Amino acid sequence: MESSSAATVSAGPSPGPTPADLLRRLRARGAADPVTHVERVPARPGVPAPWPSWAPPELRAAFARRGVVAPWQHQAQAATLAYEGEHVVVATGTASGKSLAYQLPALATLLADPRATVLYLAPTKALAADQLRAVAALELEGVRPACYDGDTPRTEREWIRRHSRFVLTNPDMLHHGVLPGHAQWSGFLRRLAYVVIDECHTYRGVFGSHVAHVLRRLRRQCARFGSTPVFVLASATSGDPSTAAGRLTGLPVTAVTEDASPRGGVTFALWEPPLLPPDSGPSTPVPPQSTGDHDDLQQVRRSALRETADLLADTVAEGVRTLAFVRSRKGAEVVAANARRALDDAVPGLGDRVAAYRGGYLREERRELERALLHGDLLGLASTNALELGVDLVGLDAVLICGYPGTRASLWQQAGRAGRSGQEALAVLVARDDPLDTYLVHHPEAIFGAPVEATVLDPANPYVLAPQLACAAFEAPLTPADLALFGDGAKEAVDQLVAAGALRQRPTGWYWRHRERPEVDLRGEGGAPVCVVESSTGRLLGTVDGGSSHFLLHSGAVYLHQGVSYVVDDLDLVDGCALVHAEEPDWSTHARDVTDLSVVSVRSYVDAGPVGMFLGEVDVTSQVVSYQRRRIATGEVIDTRPLDLPARELRTVAVWFTLSPQSLTLAGVQPADVPGALHAAEHAAIGLLPLMATCDRWDIGGLSTAVHQDTEAPTVFVYDGHPGGAGFAERAYGTASAWLRATRDAIAECGCESGCPSCVQSPKCGNGNNPLSKPDAIRVLDVVLANLLE
Ligand SMILES: [Zn+2]
Ligand SMILES: [Zn+2]
Repeated sequence: MESSSAATVSAGPSPGPTPADLLRRLRARGAADPVTHVERVPARPGVPAPWPSWAPPELRAAFARRGVVAPWQHQAQAATLAYEGEHVVVATGTASGKSLAYQLPALATLLADPRATVLYLAPTKALAADQLRAVAALELEGVRPACYDGDTPRTEREWIRRHSRFVLTNPDMLHHGVLPGHAQWSGFLRRLAYVVIDECHTYRGVFGSHVAHVLRRLRRQCARFGSTPVFVLASATSGDPSTAAGRLTGLPVTAVTEDASPRGGVTFALWEPPLLPPDSGPSTPVPPQSTGDHDDLQQVRRSALRETADLLADTVAEGVRTLAFVRSRKGAEVVAANARRALDDAVPGLGDRVAAYRGGYLREERRELERALLHGDLLGLASTNALELGVDLVGLDAVLICGYPGTRASLWQQAGRAGRSGQEALAVLVARDDPLDTYLVHHPEAIFGAPVEATVLDPANPYVLAPQLACAAFEAPLTPADLALFGDGAKEAVDQLVAAGALRQRPTGWYWRHRERPEVDLRGEGGAPVCVVESSTGRLLGTVDGGSSHFLLHSGAVYLHQGVSYVVDDLDLVDGCALVHAEEPDWSTHARDVTDLSVVSVRSYVDAGPVGMFLGEVDVTSQVVSYQRRRIATGEVIDTRPLDLPARELRTVAVWFTLSPQSLTLAGVQPADVPGALHAAEHAAIGLLPLMATCDRWDIGGLSTAVHQDTEAPTVFVYDGHPGGAGFAERAYGTASAWLRATRDAIAECGCESGCPSCVQSPKCGNGNNPLSKPDAIRVLDVVLANLLE
């Protein structure tokens, strides 16, 4: 056992096994090999570039004082493009130094032109504050960087508007504060040289669509004052960053994606927990109050939590410093507790060297745990996502990732905690029983090859466009030329606003008719938000958008807020308020709804013989009718309870495909099996969409039917769960072949016999996962793919 000295700061030498040896021992435990793929991600030396000739010596010296000797090649490339006036997005890995790519041209310009200004936007105040510290630390004369957000004292705001030349803020403040008060900002906007948009991949879906229009409003005000700023965006790695950045800004944007920063070597294993033997006893005992039929999710695979706990115990027993990422806090506690128990069974006392991050820990206590892990006093730690962890917690020997974290960016962020200079580390992704996880562990190219998931948004969403045009009209009357700036659908939206009495048309343009400015919340959607109130104290914990409230805040729902668990006592729809009390039961709740859908219009379609692929507007009527309670540790269903909530309507965008009944018969799908085939294909297709677009399966809904009244054919619909659409269905339509190919493969490659949560069962099914036919779903998708590709 290594000794640990309190004086050691960085992780000491590791006497443990090599990653390859360790992995060999881990996978030799069970009868079947759970490893589906091992990727050796080699160490990569950085590729430095000389400072661009335009970078002034005092700026180079300032960076050198902060330890930046020379830029990496991608930083220099993006910086030079921006300096030459091209809009640019730099989309490279975590910790690849994206900030230098925009700091360099922006600060060089501020030094060269004592009047120029820079506006920096971050999705959170905390990130803007981090950037402020970084820019201020360069100590450049005359830049006077300052944060301008909701926390900025009134007394300082005027000084910032007049004197700061590097203002850091967020889209909400730009929308609520800067743009409506543009007269006070005219001096700043007139001289605006750069707009920096950091972490731009976070502007997705409906929120992203709102931000896209806030940026168009900013461009309009700049144009009025005579400036045309260059946009520099920073993004996590993603598919097609240039298109996403172009949609966000409305401008042509060049992408820089070649990451030239150094990284350590990692042995990366993809791990699929084994199927349970069919007669391994009832893992899902049916309690008396259950509905009793076989519609509940059956546990077919060993749970990812148990598998991760075992792996954690094994690596700790080997003396390997290991961090396990688990998606929920309760899950992290289960992993730590199971690992401790296993270790104590082997060597009493050894369990003490494993801990979980628990809620309620103070920042100092968390840092103490991190220090103990780095020193080796603690060998294993189970935690939720990286947000709670200190940025310094790197250099571990092994990282276990329990379930795909949703995006490749998060996956690499978590894996990036492993590995120290000169030493290889081990990373293991343990698949959960989810179609996307199943697909990924069988398709390593989707993780290690070129990224395909794209950040999507839809600025043409009429539910976003109309309120944003109202904001623009409040700021300055709209002219016909402005309509082109706001893009497709702007004229229709203006006409609607005129008809509704919000705008008045005059020869010179469209005028806002009211004194007050329009109330538009960038993050609110789907109706008035519902307040979450703690009954005993009357404390307002937060709000949930109206669209999600029936799902998340029904009576009996377990609601998580900043890591603390509450149970809902009552959802009052009239007052728009949910009363909750703090409680941490060992189950989670899963609402179920029933859905009806009608086609409003077809935007685009592909006629592929017996198969049709469509994109269009639909009306969805859905009602949350019941919820399931499930044990967190095992996924076991405890019971299903009815709910009494009203139906709701949603006008949104859907992608759908139809097949002729004859083509299904020819493919060997019996008429009686058509509903189960379509239903299974629908579930898996929804599960795989996050591979193509950064959404999660809760952002989208689906419906399948053997005959639909509008298409008059067997049909599968997948729709955006947000009013007006959020771009997810559109992305699915645009990548239909790749998306449905991945769906088909995920189903076919799942080793289960007749369908399981890893392939065709869905945790949010309104029909209790019944009927479902796994083999027929493959036949359906084969017919679609064969015809689409012809
Ligand atoms: Zn399966
Ligand atoms: Zn279903």
